[in-house]
Amino acid sequence: MAQRAFHFVKERKKVYELAHNLRWSFDCPTQQFFAKLSPRVWDRSDHNPIAVLNEISEEELRSRLMNGEVLSELNECYDSLQQYLKRVHSSSQSLSHFEKHPVAYFSAEIGIHESLPIYSGGLGILSGDHTKSASDIGLNFVGVTLFYRQGYFVQRVNSEGWQMEEYVQQDQHNLPIAPVTDEGGNLVKVQVQIGRSLVSVAAYKVTVGRSVLYLLETDLPENEMHYRDLTARVYGGDSTTRISQEIILGIGGAKFLKELEYQPAVYHMNEGHSAFLTLELLHEQLMLGKPLTRSIDEVKKKCVFTTHTPVAAGHDRFTQDLINFSLSGFVTSLGLTLDEFMKFGRVNPSDKEETFCMTVLALKMSRGANAVSELNGKVSRQMWTGLYPGKKAEQVPIGHITNGIHSLSWLAMEARAVYVKSIGPKWHDKLDRPADWKTAVAKVPDEELWALRYALRRRLIEFVREKMRLQLTRLGNSSDWVEKTLSADALTIGFSRRFATYKRAPLFFTDMERAGRLLGDPQRPVQIIFSGKAHPRDDAGKAFIQQVVRLSRDPRFMGRVVFLEGYNMAVARQLVAGCDLWLNNPRRPLEASGTSGQKVIMNGGLNCSVMDGWWREAFNGKNGFSIGEDKDSQLPVDQQDALDAENLYDVIENKVIPLYYDRDASGLPAKWIKMIKESLRTMAPVYNTDRMVREYVSKYYLQK
Ligand SMILES: *Cc1c(COP(=O)(O)O)cnc(C)c1O
Repeated sequence: MAQRAFHFVKERKKVYELAHNLRWSFDCPTQQFFAKLSPRVWDRSDHNPIAVLNEISEEELRSRLMNGEVLSELNECYDSLQQYLKRVHSSSQSLSHFEKHPVAYFSAEIGIHESLPIYSGGLGILSGDHTKSASDIGLNFVGVTLFYRQGYFVQRVNSEGWQMEEYVQQDQHNLPIAPVTDEGGNLVKVQVQIGRSLVSVAAYKVTVGRSVLYLLETDLPENEMHYRDLTARVYGGDSTTRISQEIILGIGGAKFLKELEYQPAVYHMNEGHSAFLTLELLHEQLMLGKPLTRSIDEVKKKCVFTTHTPVAAGHDRFTQDLINFSLSGFVTSLGLTLDEFMKFGRVNPSDKEETFCMTVLALKMSRGANAVSELNGKVSRQMWTGLYPGKKAEQVPIGHITNGIHSLSWLAMEARAVYVKSIGPKWHDKLDRPADWKTAVAKVPDEELWALRYALRRRLIEFVREKMRLQLTRLGNSSDWVEKTLSADALTIGFSRRFATYKRAPLFFTDMERAGRLLGDPQRPVQIIFSGKAHPRDDAGKAFIQQVVRLSRDPRFMGRVVFLEGYNMAVARQLVAGCDLWLNNPRRPLEASGTSGQKVIMNGGLNCSVMDGWWREAFNGKNGFSIGEDKDSQLPVDQQDALDAENLYDVIENKVIPLYYDRDASGLPAKWIKMIKESLRTMAPVYNTDRMVREYVSKYYLQK
C-alpha cells in the first residue's frame, strides 16, 4: 500500500498550532497527545504543551511523528481543532451583529489553565470559562487582562500549618503567549499617565479557540523601575499599586484595543477593577468635540457591567489624595476639576468626604448592570439604592445572570468516556436542549455511573497521597502513614475554594465531638479533603488554614481529614471529579454565586450547600442537599454560625450518610445514584457558561 509522504515541516506546524491555541485546555485528546510526548515534563510543567515542545529536539519530534499511530493522533486532534474553529453553533445567528464589532471583556484576572497562572480564584475562573464559551458559541470576543509575570502565588504550608507564599517568575518562553507586534515586528505600545510619568504598556496575545485575549504588561526597558513590576502579581501591593494596575487595565486596555483598530460593540466590565475604561472612552468622545453630557451618553451606550461583591467594604475605593496623585494629568485632560472627577465615583456627588468607588463609576457609566445570582441581584439593588434617588430597591436597574462553568473544562476524562459510550459522540450538543439531555441521562446505566464514581474517587485519593508524600518529605517528616490515609470506599467530602473567612472552612468542626463521631464511624466511613489559598494579607483566613491543618494532624482525625496545599485549577479538577459531596457553607448572602459546586455535577458529585448564590436557584429538594432554609438571617453572626453548624450536622448525619450507605441487593446505592441523575438532569444544562454567555448576549450585549 502506498504510504502517504511524510512532510515533517507541515506536521510540525500542526503540532505548534495545537500547542498555541488554548482550545487544548478543554480537549482531552489533544492533552493526551502532548502528555504522551513527555509524561514527565507534562506533569512537572502544570500540563503545558509548550514546555513539552521546548524539551523535545527537532530530531526527536521528527522520529516520534514518523510513527503512524502518533501521526494519526496528531491529525485527529488537528482536524478536530479546524472543525471547532469553523463550527456554526445553533445560536450563531443572533451573533452576526458582532462579526465586525466584538464584545470586549475586561477582567482583572482570567483563568484559562493552570499553566497560565494569571488568576487568583472564582472571579478569574469565571472569566476564563466565559472566554471559552464565547468561543464555543461563536461570539466574536476579545478579552483584556494583565500579564502577571509572577502569578498569584504558590502556596506552601509550613510545619506549624501556616501558609507561606512563594512567588515564581514565569518563563515566558514556556507560555502560550505571543508579543503583539506591528508589521515591522516592533512591539505595539500605548502610553498611560500615572502620576507624573508616562508609562508604556505592551501586550501578549493568547488564543483560546476563536476567542482572543490581550495580557497587558509594563515590564519594558523604557519604564521607570517601580512601574516595571506593577503588573508582577495578581492583586499584589498596596492601594497605590492597585490603582496603578486598574489604570493600566482600564485606560491602557481601552487604548490598546483602539491602537489595534478594534471597534467593540460593547465593553463588558467584569467587576469594577476595569471601570476607568469608561473614562478613557469619555476622553475619546470629548476629543471629538462633543459636550460632556452627550459624551457620557455615548459611553454609556457601549458599556455593561457585572457586579459580584455583596458587601460595601469589598468594593474598590480610592481617596481623593490618591486619585489626585495618580490621575491628575488624566483629570485635566478631561477638562474636569478634581472635585468634578470625584463625583463620578461617589454615591452622593456633593459629599466631599466620600472616596472614589470603582463600582459607582461603573454603574454610572453603563447602560446595563447585573449581579451574578438572583439573591446577589437583590442584595446589590439594596446596596446601591442610594445611587438612584427616588427609586425603591426593587426599581434599581441591576438585573442578574447566574454564573456557570465551562462544562468540558471541568469534566474528567473518565466521565466523558461514559457519556460518549452511553449517549454517543455528540452527547455534548444535547446539553443545549434540556429535553434531549433528560432522555440522554436516563440512558446512563447505574452500574456505569457507580463504577465511574469509584474510578474518580480512586484517582483523587492517589493524587492526594502523592501530593502529601511530597509535602511531608519537604517538611522532613515521615510519610509512611500516607498509604493508609483516605479510603476508596468512604464517602468523600470536598471543601475547596479561597479561604476567605466568610466561607467558613472549619464550620464542620464547630462541635469537635460530633465531627469526630461522624468521621470516625468504622461502619460508615466519611473523609473530608480541604484545599484553598488565603490572600497573603488575610491572617484570619490563614488561621483557618492552620486550624484545618492541625486537625488533619490530630490523631482523632488523621487519615480522614486532609489539607491539600497549592490549590489551583489542576487541584480543583481532581477534587471536583473525585469527591462524592461538595460542601459549601458560606455566611449567606455573601457567596455572590459560587461556581465550584457546579463543576462536580457532570462528574457525578452531589452538592450540599447553604441556600446562597447559585444553589438557592438550583436546589429542588431531590438533586442534592440543603443546609438550612432559604431565609434571610435576623441573627447575630455568632448565633447564625452556630445554627448553620447545627443544620450542617443534621443534614450530613440524617440525610447524606444514610443515603450513601443504603445499598441494594447488588451493592449499589440506588437512591444516591438516583439523586446523581436528578442532579445531572436538572442542573447540567443550566449552570454552564454556554447558557450564561447566551444570556449575556440577549439581555446585555445586544442593544435593545
Ligand atoms: C471554581 C474555582 C473557584 C471558585 O470556587 P467558589 O466555590 O465559587 O468560591 C476558585 N478557585 C478555583 C481554582 C476554582 O477552580
